Amino acid sequence: MHKKAIAVHGGAGTILKSEMTPKLEVEYRAGLEASLRKGWEILDKNGSALDAVEAAVVELENFPLFNAGRGSVFTHEGRNEMDAAIMDGRKLKAGAVAFLRNVKNPIGLARLVMEKTEHCLLAGEGANEFAHEMRVEFETDEYFFTEHRYLQLLKAIEEGRVQLDHAAGKSRIQTSPAPKLRKAKPLGTVGAVACDAKGNLAAATSTGGMTNKKFGRIGDTPVIGAGTYADNATCAVSCTGHGEFFMLGVTAFDVAARMKYKGLSLEDAAAEAIDNLTKIGGEGGFIAVDGQGRVVLPFNSEGMYRGFVDEAGEPVIEIYK
Ligand code: ASP
Repeated sequence: MHKKAIAVHGGAGTILKSEMTPKLEVEYRAGLEASLRKGWEILDKNGSALDAVEAAVVELENFPLFNAGRGSVFTHEGRNEMDAAIMDGRKLKAGAVAFLRNVKNPIGLARLVMEKTEHCLLAGEGANEFAHEMRVEFETDEYFFTEHRYLQLLKAIEEGRVQLDHAAGKSRIQTSPAPKLRKAKPLGTVGAVACDAKGNLAAATSTGGMTNKKFGRIGDTPVIGAGTYADNATCAVSCTGHGEFFMLGVTAFDVAARMKYKGLSLEDAAAEAIDNLTKIGGEGGFIAVDGQGRVVLPFNSEGMYRGFVDEAGEPVIEIYK
């Protein structure tokens, strides 16, 4: 029997205690805890890592404070366009969706891409068409409308900026001229990684991307190896942070590759991968688990909403550095 483990995140960024109200902090913690409990319940009954990460992410997608599913940020046009990916480390199979609209739980559709098609990633109109074909649950624009996200958009448009999600005022990046879009820092994704009793690993990540995003931008989340990766031979990883750099650093795979090719432990591979992310200018973090149920939750930003289940089966939630 392998040591079961699960970890979740709700995004990384400039999360400062000085800017958090006690009430909001309680809500964030409750959201992460509910997600961990959902996933753990499955692992505890000897369910699969794949089912556990999907259930944990569905919980976070339904929770309005996180930037995924219901709490997704608004695009420049005032829409919610979501990306998600799931990977099964047992079979080395993955499914992902991008530019998804009105689908209640993008992570469930990503799993259907993995299980019902011979493809890895479906985007835009085609992804929505596939969602209809699969008869997944849709929600109205009103369901996805959350006031705090809309106010973020109005402010971002007024200032001609792409708004960070978990960010203090200073971190909003000017992006009006198209060439500067590289500098946008989209933060606030959700994710889960798990190891089940059989030692099978899985990872899942879901996001609304960034406030005021334009031009059909896709981040790292649905890109296998960048924001999401799982291989039983090494580890399962779910990333959050400035997506462009996670793509450039192929960060999720970077952790697995350092274990595979250098023979590093999960801890050492994760530390090197974060160092590399920092070196190339990226901000954020990730959660990862190996086949022995060891969990790491490193980040180089001010904070990361994160949690794991401890030896006693109890959720441990952390937010700040
Ligand atoms: N990595 C995500 C993206 O770039 C955003 C996030 O993690 O908050 O779309």
